[in-house]
Formats: sequence, C-alpha cells, structure tokens
Amino acid sequence: VEVKQKSVEIKQLPVVSTKNTTHTKRAKAVFVVLVRNRDIHDLRASMRELEDRFNHKYNYPYLFLNDEEFTDEFKRLSSAMTKAKTEYGLIPEEHWSVPDWIDIDRARSEMKKMEEADVIYGGSESYRHMCRFESGFFFRHPLLDKYDYYWRVEPGFTVSLYEYEETIKTLWKTVREFMKKYPEYIEKDNAMDFISYDQGETYNLCHFWSNFEIGDLNLWRSERYLKFFDFLDHKGGFFYERWGDAPVHSIAAALFLKKKEIHFFNEIGYKHEPFMHCPVEMNLQMKCHCNPQDNFGYSCTGRLVNVAW
Ligand code: GDP
Ligand code: MN
Repeated sequence: VEVKQKSVEIKQLPVVSTKNTTHTKRAKAVFVVLVRNRDIHDLRASMRELEDRFNHKYNYPYLFLNDEEFTDEFKRLSSAMTKAKTEYGLIPEEHWSVPDWIDIDRARSEMKKMEEADVIYGGSESYRHMCRFESGFFFRHPLLDKYDYYWRVEPGFTVSLYEYEETIKTLWKTVREFMKKYPEYIEKDNAMDFISYDQGETYNLCHFWSNFEIGDLNLWRSERYLKFFDFLDHKGGFFYERWGDAPVHSIAAALFLKKKEIHFFNEIGYKHEPFMHCPVEMNLQMKCHCNPQDNFGYSCTGRLVNVAW
C-alpha cells in the first residue's frame, strides 16, 4: 500500500463519558464472528481483549459463524473465554456458494489474472465467498433474528482507508445504475461527500474497514439494502472482480443513512494488520496504551469526521 500523508486533520471530538454507563438500557446486541476452526487461538486473543476491556462488565453474547461445522475443541476453547452465552452457527450452503447466474469460467479466469497481478486475495475463491457473505448474508442467519445490533469481531482485533481500485473496477458504475433506477432509496442528508469528491460522479475509494463494525441490523435488513445487495450480486462483481464487504457496506451506509447516523468510534483503539487506530484526544481518559504516533497516514477518517460532524 502506498502510504500518503494524512491531508485532513481530525477535529476535536466531544469526549464521551465512561461513567454511569450502568444506567443505560441494555441493547439486544451480539458480537458476531465469522471464523474458521483453525483460527481459534487468534480468536481467543481477540476475545480476551474484548472481555478485559469491555465485556466482563456487560456480558453481551457471542455468535460464531462458519461455513463448516465447528469442532468441539473450538467450542470448548472459545466458550472458556467468557461468562457470556456463546452460540455456534453453520452458514447455509446457499449463502456460501457460486450463484447459478455466474459464469464460473469467466470468474476463474479473472481470478487467475488478479493473482498474476499480485492483487491481495486476487486468486482466492473462499475470500470472495467471505466478502459476499459479509455483504449480503450474515444478517440473515436465523441465530441473528433475536438481535437489533451487532459488533463484528475478527480473530487476531476504527479504521477507514482507500480501497485497492483493481478489486472494484466496475463497483461504482454499478452503484450509479442502482441510484438511477431507485432514486427513492437514496437518503437526502446522506454522506456522499465521504465517498465522492465530485457529488457522486466518481468514487474516491474511501471505506470503513468492516472488520471492526458496530451496527444496526435493520440497515442491512431494509428493503433498500436487500435490493442494493441483490443488484450488485447479479452484476457478478463479487466473483468477476473482488468486491469487498467493506466498500459495499460503506457505500450503502453513505447513501442510505443520514450523515449523523454514521458514527466514528474514535474512543476505541483498534488494530488490524497492517493498520491501527489509537485514540488521539482521549487516550488518557480511556487508559489506552497504544502510541498515537503509530496511527497510519493512509486514512479517510479525517474526511469522514469533517463530513459527519
Ligand atoms: P482480511 O481482514 O480482509 O485480511 O481477511 P480475513 O482473512 O481476516 O477474513 C475476514 C474474516 O472472515 C475473518 O473474521 C476470518 O476469520 C473470516 N474468514 C475468511 N475466510 C474464511 C473462510 O473461508 N471461512 C470462514 N469460516 N471464515 C473466513
Ligand atoms: Mn482480517
């Protein structure tokens, strides 16, 4: 990744209070983790951090999802990390397979080209299933029905940056077709300014990294998002290109939500290789031990903060 200097300074944000949180109403919320059996030890590290810093006080449940059955070993080692409830879900095959409208030979030859061009995960079919699942299906898993909100966690544990253009060559063109077809779905006070420098003519590649995401499931369950996902899915870019769930979620949030409904969790320090977010203004109050100087420069966050606040 070519690292550019951060061009927009982050404005001073209101400091959140960490006191008196016990009086707030408990949300119907869950940690959602898409994970393979072999990731158990990295997962335990993420869970340990979450439990120590946050969840030992709240005991929000965990839902683990996998395209294969979880082993007893996985269940034993993960449930031992928390007092909270843990649930284990198998992903239905139709949420993790190549749909019949996809030309598989074309998809394979595009994957080969991307692999040869050294595009990250360019040659991986399973990565494409992962991105498609996180874009269009995780929220439809029946074990999520009882929840309103989710917090996505990955093995290994607020980052936004620019997407690799080679992975999403026709994504924006497709989004524009969708916007033209369904103008009624586009929110008026939206955050288009976050994802476009020219009022929607072109995509600036900014997206929130979806490996950390706290969200309202009703956004993804909404008619407009389901139509949006279906529209993208039929264009085939999850397979012919390598559309990531991060730009898909980010574009949808920018178009379908009011600016103010997008929240930057500045107060949560977070690292996902190779980048990290270390709270700058409030690192003392939040007792963070990260070094704010390690914050990465290749970030859209300054832009987001200026758009949303
Ligand atoms: P990156 O963050 O884009 O580099 O991709 P990751 O390899 O971290 O994958 C994103 C998330 O999907 C992580 O939570 C992985 O554990 C999970 N994941 C990726 N591929 C698979 C897969 O084939 N099966 C399952 N069950 N989970 C996967
Ligand atoms: Mn990851």
